[in-house]
Amino acid sequence: MTRKIRVLIINCYLDETRRFKGRPHFIPQAVGPAYLAGAFAPQHAELKLYSELHSGPFEDEKLMSWPDMVVITGMTTAFDRMRHMSAYFRTKNPKAVMVAGGQAIRALPERSREFFDYVCIGDVEELQDVVREVFGQAYVSPAMDPRFDLINWMGFIGYVESSRNCNFKCSFCTLTGEGNKYSVYDIDHLARQIEAVGRRTCILFVDNNFYGNDRDFFHAKLDLLKTYWKKKAFGGWSALVTNDFFAKEENLRLARESGCLALFSGVESFDAEQLTRFRKKQNLILPQVQTIRNCLDNGVVFQYGVIFDTTKRSLAEIHDEIDFITRTPEIPLPAFMNLTIPILRTPYFYECLDEGLFLPNTKLRDMDGNTLVLKPKDSVEEVVQFLRDMPTLRGYKRQVAKHAVNFYRHYRKKLTIPQMISAVGNSALLCLPALAHNHGTLFKRGKKSEPRTYVTGSEPIGPLYKPLFSLPDRFQSYFEPTMVTDADGQLCDELRPDLEQNKAVPLARVSVN
Ligand code: SF4
Repeated sequence: MTRKIRVLIINCYLDETRRFKGRPHFIPQAVGPAYLAGAFAPQHAELKLYSELHSGPFEDEKLMSWPDMVVITGMTTAFDRMRHMSAYFRTKNPKAVMVAGGQAIRALPERSREFFDYVCIGDVEELQDVVREVFGQAYVSPAMDPRFDLINWMGFIGYVESSRNCNFKCSFCTLTGEGNKYSVYDIDHLARQIEAVGRRTCILFVDNNFYGNDRDFFHAKLDLLKTYWKKKAFGGWSALVTNDFFAKEENLRLARESGCLALFSGVESFDAEQLTRFRKKQNLILPQVQTIRNCLDNGVVFQYGVIFDTTKRSLAEIHDEIDFITRTPEIPLPAFMNLTIPILRTPYFYECLDEGLFLPNTKLRDMDGNTLVLKPKDSVEEVVQFLRDMPTLRGYKRQVAKHAVNFYRHYRKKLTIPQMISAVGNSALLCLPALAHNHGTLFKRGKKSEPRTYVTGSEPIGPLYKPLFSLPDRFQSYFEPTMVTDADGQLCDELRPDLEQNKAVPLARVSVN
């Protein structure tokens, strides 16, 4: 008789604001674990899923002794957290097979081999190969349908995916660094996902580029959504689209007619020079304010983020941009504002390395858009003050409040009440920072994190880098932060096999151990 195996799938996360609580209300939540769970034959595997983004740091020592296999995934900044997990599980449960995948592992496949039994650099389906090799064919699910039934953090939103990767090549984007081709799911697979998430207020597509370059598929998707929306399977849908979506007039109408409530698009900057430097030329096709106004006038909320490159732009220029945004009530305030991140393997990462822009002793965990890791044009002290003020737009409170009132007046007849709440919500969070920045810096093990410096060399690594319980000596190094640069600001030797330019390990070559 086939034994039932025990599998724990964890989405690892290190919070950029250094809070130690989960973010249950953050949108979007991580749904990778549900897709990974689809690799296991349900009748032969007992599965448990955990998200550190939703529920905070994973510290359940009892559960660490439970699984036969641990599958961990996470963004690049979560690499250290994934190493911590490996030390914990290898101590409590040496027989457990550690499988790691996701952005962090794709960025550092060679380095990862030291910490995990299986290093997956392909798509989620690669997990089927690992399961087959470790447990046998009987344990593999051929369908690979996501197991949304196992995650308890979806709430009123149902997350689905209709495509992978992107057909653009912005210089700072992880997807550009990974170089994988844009591809779409078949329409039946999408229908199965919508059925699987069940009745929800909103369906949110986690695609990086919902619009893509396959017009037939795009129209088939909207037809499918329209059918389900009319059947009241969900109250509306939202997705991330690239700027070229707005270049075709009929797209907004078709989206609205199929139940679209909101679209997120990466504006990144209102400065044309900056967009050219980011190789984000698709954002230069239409005037940005006109695009945003057009979207809102059509009854679809427009959400976006902006990123500031303090290596190339002065703080005065950046303040001018914030001033422009907060004085333009036709556009909503951004959902996030960050420093540009030199994500490993991206063209922007190599540009910064070549120009000697990295600060000495840059830690991977600090490459979060919230900590200074690159030499700025202005003084470090001035940029640190800017970083302290940025999350709450200190100095702009009156403008932000005025902006919210004028935005409401402008669009009150175009948007529904829930849409208006989501559109002006960013202003409320900026005006009432306690709502948005309840940092929870008191760690549940009773330690408070040290005050932040916002500069990578001196930024404290925080209490998560202190092991939960005593570990064998060989695992102590798992808790040292991964360094990207050395004391001279040069690429660290440990990362050279993965990242040295022209020698970077081609991702297609690396497979499971
Ligand atoms: S359009 Fe967006 S997803 Fe595509 S490469 Fe640019 S930043 Fe990445």
